[in-house]
Amino acid sequence: MNSTSMHTQCVHSGQEADLLHGETVSAIYPGSSYAYLDRDLKAYPRYFNTPNQRAVAQKVAALEAAEAGLITSSGMAAISNTLLAFLKQGDHLVMQYGLYGGTTHFIQEHFPRQGIHFSQAKDGSLAALEAEIRPETKVIYIETPSNPLLAITDVAAVARLAKAQGILTVIDNTFASPINQQPISLGIDISLHSATKYLGGHSDLCAGVVTGRAELVQQIAGVAKGYGGSLNAQSCYLLERSIKTLALRVKQHNQNALALATYLEGRHDIIQVYYPGLPSHQGHETAATQMKGFGGMLSFELAAGIDPIAFQKKLRLIQASMSLGGVESTLCSPHLTSHAYLSPEERLKEGISDGVLRLSVGIEAVGDLQADIAQALG
Ligand code: PLP
Repeated sequence: MNSTSMHTQCVHSGQEADLLHGETVSAIYPGSSYAYLDRDLKAYPRYFNTPNQRAVAQKVAALEAAEAGLITSSGMAAISNTLLAFLKQGDHLVMQYGLYGGTTHFIQEHFPRQGIHFSQAKDGSLAALEAEIRPETKVIYIETPSNPLLAITDVAAVARLAKAQGILTVIDNTFASPINQQPISLGIDISLHSATKYLGGHSDLCAGVVTGRAELVQQIAGVAKGYGGSLNAQSCYLLERSIKTLALRVKQHNQNALALATYLEGRHDIIQVYYPGLPSHQGHETAATQMKGFGGMLSFELAAGIDPIAFQKKLRLIQASMSLGGVESTLCSPHLTSHAYLSPEERLKEGISDGVLRLSVGIEAVGDLQADIAQALG
C-alpha cells in the first residue's frame, strides 16, 4: 500500500455516509438501547457493535490491512481479552523477551489462577523464542519495537515459525502504529494496539484496538462481551477524529525522533541511545525491512553522575509524564512507570536500569526539543 492510500484511508475508511443530513463527519450515537425486531444486528454498547464502535473499528482494520477490527476501552482490555479468547486451562503461551510491563504483569498475575502456562524467551533471538515452544503452545505473543528499549523482533520470521506449527500469533503494534508497520501483511494473525497512544495521539483518551481475520475478531468479541471493556460513543468519535491525521502525525514523529536520536548519540553525556532508525541499533536491519518509518519512540541512558530525576525536572518543553504517542513530547523513567510492576531484578535482566529514560518524541519543531534537552543537560 502506498502512503497516499494510507493518508486517504485515515480520513475516509469506516465512515458511513449521512443520508439524512449529508454531514461530513460521523454523527455520535450515544444510545445504549437499540431496536432489535426484524433486524440482523442486535446493537448494544457492550456487544462492541454500535455505530461509532463499528465506524472506528473499520477504520483501524483498513489501516492494518485486516478483515475486521474491535474497539476496546483500553489497550489492556485488547490484550487481556485477546489472550483469554485463545488460551484455556492447560494451554501454553510463549512471550517475547521484553514486553510492556503491564502485559507481563497481567500474564504473571492472572494466568496461574486460570491454569494457563507461559514462558518467556531468554533473549531477543528467534532461536530463544523457538526454544520455548511446547506441544501445548497455542499462542506466541510479540511486541516490536518493544517498550521501553525498542528491541526489534523479525515479524515475518515469527509468523513463519508459528504457522509451521499451527500456533496463533499476536503482536502489540502500539509503538510502530499501522502507518509504520502492518504485521498482518507479514503473516501475523492478530495485531493489537493501545489506542491511548498514537491512534488517539492527543493524550486525551484511553482505548484499545484488535484487528485480524473476522472469525478471530468474532471470537475475541465473544469473550470481551462477558468481561466487559467496551468503549463509549464519545471516545469512539474522538478516536475516529484523531485517526484522520494519524499518517501526517506519524510522518512528523518519525522525522523528529530520527533527528533527536542522532543528536543524542553524538553527545558525550549520553551513554546509549535506543532507536531502531540508528544504524548502531541492534535491530536496525530487520526494522528497515519491516517498517516504513522507525517511529517516534526512543530511549537513552544518561552518563553516570547525571541524576535522571533532576534532569527531567529541568526540562521546560518536554513534559515528564506517564503515557506516550501524543503530539506533545513526553519523557519518563520506565522503572517508575511502565515497568514499575516488575521487580528490580526482572528489570535489570531486561536491561532496564534506573538511568534509562523513554522519550516519546512529539511533532513540535525538532530544534526546540533539542534545545530543551541541551539546556537541561547543561
Ligand atoms: N502496549 C504498550 C506497548 C503500552 O505502552 C501500553 C501502555 O503504556 C499498553 C499496551 C497498555 O495500554 P493502555 O494503557 O491503553 O491499557
